[in-house]
Amino acid sequence: MTALGRHGFDVVIVGAGPAGASLAIRVARAGYSVALVDRAQFPRSKPCGEFMSPPCVPMLAELGLDVFDLDGGAARGHEVSGMRLSAFERGAVGRYRAVGRAAPPMTLGIGIRRELLDANLVDLARAQDGVTVLEGHAVLDLERERGGRIVGIRVREPDGMERTLRASVTVGADGLRSRVARSLGVVQPIPWLNRFALVTRYAGVDATDFGELHLFEGGYFAAVDVDAGLFTLNLVVDGASLPKGRAALDAMFDERLQRVPVLAERLRSARRFEPLRAYGPLGVRTKRQVFEGAVLVGDAAGYVDPMTGEGIYLALRGADLLTDALRVRFETGSERRAWRQYTRARRHEIAPKLAMSLLLQRAIRKPWLVERFARLVERRPGLLDFVVSLTGDYVPLREALRPGALVRAWSSS
Ligand SMILES: Cc1cc2nc3c(=O)[nH]c(=O)nc-3n(C[C@H](O)[C@H](O)[C@H](O)COP(=O)(O)OP(=O)(O)OC[C@H]3O[C@@H](n4cnc5c(N)ncnc54)[C@H](O)[C@@H]3O)c2cc1C
Repeated sequence: MTALGRHGFDVVIVGAGPAGASLAIRVARAGYSVALVDRAQFPRSKPCGEFMSPPCVPMLAELGLDVFDLDGGAARGHEVSGMRLSAFERGAVGRYRAVGRAAPPMTLGIGIRRELLDANLVDLARAQDGVTVLEGHAVLDLERERGGRIVGIRVREPDGMERTLRASVTVGADGLRSRVARSLGVVQPIPWLNRFALVTRYAGVDATDFGELHLFEGGYFAAVDVDAGLFTLNLVVDGASLPKGRAALDAMFDERLQRVPVLAERLRSARRFEPLRAYGPLGVRTKRQVFEGAVLVGDAAGYVDPMTGEGIYLALRGADLLTDALRVRFETGSERRAWRQYTRARRHEIAPKLAMSLLLQRAIRKPWLVERFARLVERRPGLLDFVVSLTGDYVPLREALRPGALVRAWSSS
């Protein structure tokens, strides 16, 4: 079934970012028809720190995407084997290491421009039998039956015409400001987490093999070298502190940069490649993720600025978990059973990571704590390896909590 006609699709996915595109590929491979709908034309940009944690590489490879061989061999992601953490002019580089029995998949994170990653993933979805990709189609609302069950979406096509797309299951994978989640009435802002990002890229920065997180009072910079010889830099601050107007934003960015001398020094002879883009707020929760005829995944299901760059992993992993649930949905005919499985899996894998991100966000509001931590990891590099590894999305909580794991990290030099 691939027609837009009466019978519709098995699954319609709103949003072709990492969550939506990877879900489309997986669901079609399981034998179901999919419409993958995005209002953008790819390649499109997406404000992001552009760092992917280590397990993303094998997860994408499983889908058929080799991050070292993109655009037909013309592009490749930049390899990242750890993270530099600094605060108040103290800090060190931590590397991805084994923690207990959890070894890093390839010891590698990746820096990659989102327009490159996402467009390659959408191309892969387009080439997959059973997937119909509809770019330039803005979803306006959900289509409901009289009893309230969701049976598809209303879209505006590129020519301005509106039409209905029907499906057995409608997936909201439409990101942080999800129209699907809003239409379902489940969005809950996190008022105290009013964080905004100012995003840009530089050319002419000497590349390293680590990502960077520089904390200062009132915010942080996150940075990574990406493909094409560029360096992506995000400044994250409280929304209330953002001035109005481009010149004022630029001035604020430059002033904050001077608070992190090690970063300012690296950028001294570099050239700002793109204007700043402001984006936020960077935190949202949803009350529920499953509905009659619909389900949420990726940022649309909830997102907390994690600082350590885990959103893409959570989007890919969430799509994985949802694929399993959709199999149950179609094989048994029981939506209730499928959604119970998906909810349980999210509670087990995704919710703890979002909770940890909220905890981290609270912690960095205490400068004395941040400074003490920076001093500590400067003296205890093994401890920083441990912390960086925990943020790398490959260490299960049970391995991190194993007796001896922290002691080993503490005492290793
Ligand atoms: C400033 C910032 C920095 C970040 N840094 C990192 C990082 O370094 N590493 C990391 O892993 N994560 C990072 N993240 C998080 C990461 O970007 C997201 O978690 C990830 O993109 C989520 O993927 P997704 O597929 O759920 O949504 P998205 O990638 O947002 O994709 C959603 C898609 O839905 C489409 N869409 C939206 N509305 C509609 C509509 N009405 N109709 C049709 N289509 C629609 C959009 O065009 C878009 O293509 C960052 C986020 C921000 C904001």
